[in-house]
Amino acid sequence: MNIKENYEAIMARVSAACERAGRSPEDVTVMAVTKYVSAERVEKAIAAGVKHFGESRDGGLLEKKQAIKAPVHWHFVGRMQSRKVKEVIHECDVIHSLDRASLAKEINKRYQRETPIDCMVQVNVSGEETKAGVAPDQLENFVRALESYEHIRVAGLMTMAPHTKNPEDVRPYFRQLRELCDDIKRLQLPHAPCQHLSMGMSNDFEQAVEEGATIIRLGTSLVGNETGREA
Ligand SMILES: *Cc1c(COP(=O)(O)O)cnc(C)c1O
Repeated sequence: MNIKENYEAIMARVSAACERAGRSPEDVTVMAVTKYVSAERVEKAIAAGVKHFGESRDGGLLEKKQAIKAPVHWHFVGRMQSRKVKEVIHECDVIHSLDRASLAKEINKRYQRETPIDCMVQVNVSGEETKAGVAPDQLENFVRALESYEHIRVAGLMTMAPHTKNPEDVRPYFRQLRELCDDIKRLQLPHAPCQHLSMGMSNDFEQAVEEGATIIRLGTSLVGNETGREA
């Protein structure tokens, strides 16, 4: 596992995908999802030039933040338990998994900084019952209801695409998320600029970039998996 080589190869593929789509690579942020690896690999990723990191559990986030002193950006990408909000809310820059009203309420209650925290609303575009996320037809109402929460800024939308062998199969979901994002932008709600699309993982990030992803979340392809568990 050479993280620097992985990162360079991924950046080349991101650039090529951007070129195909007429986009600028500067508009795509590569996040390393480090839930299956040690802090040592986070250090290697930092040395390779990665600046954004994602964790999916409160314990993982707190542990990595303890170990890593470099000034990198931390993202929370997994399901956030309401009772853990107060422990993690001031430890991450962005929450990618705002998926329910009760969580929004808790975040708003616990967040203490003056400027609001950037949140992505997680949307269940594939409609799979096992997936978290707001249903597409509920999205506008959900976002409008967040207006009363002064500590929450809707920075964008996030989705988890279904696992498929052929990444082309998930392209329609990425496209749908982009269209939903455009719909929210068009509302011009001051609390919901909705400039970001968090979509694409190790298997399907090129399709996601071609469809407009501004943040891709890469675990195994970038930093690997030290647990032996399936990603
Ligand atoms: C684990 C995880 C990823 C990264 O998955 P890979 O397939 O290993 O790239 C991305 N997003 C979320 C929300 C995750 O939990």
